[in-house]
Amino acid sequence: MTDCIFCKIVDKQIPAGVVYEDDEMLCFKDIHPSAPVHLLLIPKVHFDSLAHARPEHEALLGKMMMKVPEIAAEAGLTNGFKTLINTGKGGGQEVFHLHVHIMGRPV
Ligand code: 5GP
Ligand code: ZN
Repeated sequence: MTDCIFCKIVDKQIPAGVVYEDDEMLCFKDIHPSAPVHLLLIPKVHFDSLAHARPEHEALLGKMMMKVPEIAAEAGLTNGFKTLINTGKGGGQEVFHLHVHIMGRPV
């Protein structure tokens, strides 16, 4: 998926403010933050959206969800945070590589 902007961030072809990375996922700062902390957590493997997730993505999605509180706490969101997954054009999705928004205000 060479024209996918988030795949290019995974491949380090486009710079991003990376705050967490492992073999399967990457988390970086949203370029147009809508909260004092606004991060995007993505799988390194490309799939368009939650509606395109397949059974082989089930464990990865679980790992990502388990990683969210850890990343949020590291970003200072110790009093809570919001998560958002926009899915499809009708769901407000603009970048078609699955991503979890993590947003909040540090205490
Ligand atoms: P969506 O509307 O698809 O759920 O959210 C896409 C998000 O990606 C938006 O909040 C937008 O600001 C962010 N975004 C789009 N292009 C880039 C980029 O090149 N770098 C970063 N860091 N964020 C981006
Ligand atoms: Zn992609």
